[in-house]
Amino acid sequence: MYEQFGISEKIEKLCTKSEQDVENVFKQIDNTCEYNSLKVLKAFQNNNISDIHFNSTTGYGYSDIGREAIEKVYSQIFKAEDSLVRSQFISGTHALTVALFAFLRPGDTMLSITGLPYDTLHEVIGIKENPSSLKSYNINYDQIDLVNNDFDYEKIQKRLKESKVKLIEIQRSKGYSTRKSITIEQLEKVIKIIREVDKEVIIMVDNCYCEFVGKVEPIEVGADIAVGSLIKNLGGGIAPNGAYIVGRKDLIELAGERLTAPGEGKEVGPTLGINKSILQGLFFAPNIVASSLKTAVLASKMLETLGYKTEPKYDAKRADIVQTIEFGAPKKLIKYCQGIQMGSPIESSSVPEPWDMPGYTDKVIMAAGAFTQGSSIELSCDGPIRPPYVAFMQGGLTYQYGKLGILKAIQMLEEQ
Ligand SMILES: *Cc1c(COP(=O)(O)O)cnc(C)c1O
Repeated sequence: MYEQFGISEKIEKLCTKSEQDVENVFKQIDNTCEYNSLKVLKAFQNNNISDIHFNSTTGYGYSDIGREAIEKVYSQIFKAEDSLVRSQFISGTHALTVALFAFLRPGDTMLSITGLPYDTLHEVIGIKENPSSLKSYNINYDQIDLVNNDFDYEKIQKRLKESKVKLIEIQRSKGYSTRKSITIEQLEKVIKIIREVDKEVIIMVDNCYCEFVGKVEPIEVGADIAVGSLIKNLGGGIAPNGAYIVGRKDLIELAGERLTAPGEGKEVGPTLGINKSILQGLFFAPNIVASSLKTAVLASKMLETLGYKTEPKYDAKRADIVQTIEFGAPKKLIKYCQGIQMGSPIESSSVPEPWDMPGYTDKVIMAAGAFTQGSSIELSCDGPIRPPYVAFMQGGLTYQYGKLGILKAIQMLEEQ
């Protein structure tokens, strides 16, 4: 069958060998998957999820018991006081934006302690000028960079003592940078350090791509708020859109009032028939995340064998589902992405090319043959066209499909 996809015997053999080498890593992934599956099932059972929660509301969406049950399930899974899980969030960026605008007021300062935030947040914050940015409302932004892939603990404490900071943003996943992603242990440590000097500052975690990679989530180690997208890990490839914000009750209330309107808040929001998809996606999510992780591990192992620099290494502890591969040349990055596209179920004959994308500074190549537009829990690979020409690959709804995708990408790379 692999031959029918144009995969050479050499690459198939390398794959078989690599799969043997990663056996133990896969076992650990399965163990985490089992734990998180039970976590999800328990939350479904404790909240008595039944047919009636697959209902649909229209218009204002008052008294949508399905929506309310979903939010209870999310709260339990995250061990959070409350949550906002809505299809009215257009994207992860939108949920992060709503949260920031909900919590910050003119004159306040937000501080990123993981360096430059994700590209699409630059105009939101005002790092890149935009007439609707937080900066345009006189909300200040400050930043502390990571040092050697860890927090600058001393500098953080010093900054918090200097002058009042309202909100700290911590982005766990690396985004389009070449740093490592932040583990839950690092997060726990930095939250302790922050709380030594500031009991009030809102600690908000951009949790995109990190859900269910480990057994512990950010609220459990002391974060006030965590935010993520439903077309990434927790939607399980089934939720058609949406995002979530979980955490402290008073903050979730503020976020609700910013998402809809002051006075209406969480009480409105028609679900238009997607409750079942959100629940079913969440039900599958631990397994989908495991498939994505296995796909990433196999890619890391094979590409490392072929002489490319990969991050994380195949046997490293992972914080998210993202695999980066450094190609060092634009042509290789492009070929690899085109191979991922060719291995997709949807739009497999399209050829992706680098292009200017809204929200991004450099040209970006994006390969995704996904059922849901922009879904990056489905196998997808993208990279900004700038040195050192790094591909950011993530997703894989099943390991078998993920594997074919990377074999096709490696084949394209080798032929080039
Ligand atoms: C994907 C992502 C976002 C934004 O999510 P979108 O749904 O693409 O808007 C924000 N932060 C990080 C770290 C991400 O990976």
